[in-house]
Amino acid sequence: MNGLAGRTAIVTGGARGIGEAYVRALHAEGVRVVIADVLADQGKALAGELDGARFAALDVADEAAWDAVVAETMDAFGAVDVLVNNAGIANAAPIEHFTLEKWNAVLAVNLTGTFLGCRAVVPAMKAAGRGSIVNVSSVEGLRGSERLHGYTAAKFGVRGLTKSLAVELGPAGIRVNSIHPGFIRTDMTVRIDPDRLQIPLGRPGAPGDLAGAVVFLAGDASAYLTGAEIVVDGGMTTGIPHS
Ligand code: NAP
Repeated sequence: MNGLAGRTAIVTGGARGIGEAYVRALHAEGVRVVIADVLADQGKALAGELDGARFAALDVADEAAWDAVVAETMDAFGAVDVLVNNAGIANAAPIEHFTLEKWNAVLAVNLTGTFLGCRAVVPAMKAAGRGSIVNVSSVEGLRGSERLHGYTAAKFGVRGLTKSLAVELGPAGIRVNSIHPGFIRTDMTVRIDPDRLQIPLGRPGAPGDLAGAVVFLAGDASAYLTGAEIVVDGGMTTGIPHS
């Protein structure tokens, strides 16, 4: 039903965390996955574990590196059917202490990196007449969050970019959707105490909780979805449960 077997996907930030869960889930569907990350040791180890997967060194904020990764993927597999723009960083400070350096760093990876990735894969997808791009935003792309000024702005930007691309690329058969994780236990959130959050489903998410949504958006089961937002947050942004 998903039609994913034999297709090719690039997953950025795929060496660990939620990206690793996307890589494993797509691979289990028969997808030939390119793990594109700055973390070479972890990325290579993961690729070695998964038959047919490859590692590609990529800093998503590096324009030239994107061209190289797409060329490498086309050489190896002859297609880029799916792109998951997952790589991301987070930084935080009260606004008076939010330096321009912090702002530029988070925008470069989370928003510019997503833009560069989308732009880099479009020629191959247009030539094939199909493609699915999944942009990883956040619940911080739906609402404000104190101290996370750059992160929130970037994730709202990812949500907006997803919509402009969905409109422009729909006629070319390319779908572009966003996914909005809630609180997921990874290295990124290790310093946040989940007991401070009120989550209707009663627990923090695990990376594997996101995998089903990405497989769905990548494959043909979502053939009529574009410009959509899938929120995977245990109900966190839906409402606050009574204590
Ligand atoms: P993570 O554990 O920190 O993993 C992110 C991965 O991306 C790491 O392998 C990281 O490498 C890599 N990366 C960072 N900068 C990169 C760059 N410039 N180019 C290529 N790869 C880069 O984070 P995560 O929690 O899995 O988050 C994955 C995505 O989900 C992010 O976009 C994040 O914003 C989003 N998200 C996460 C949560 C959550 O609760 N965890 C919630 C909402 C949204 P390094 O370790 O070297 O930085």
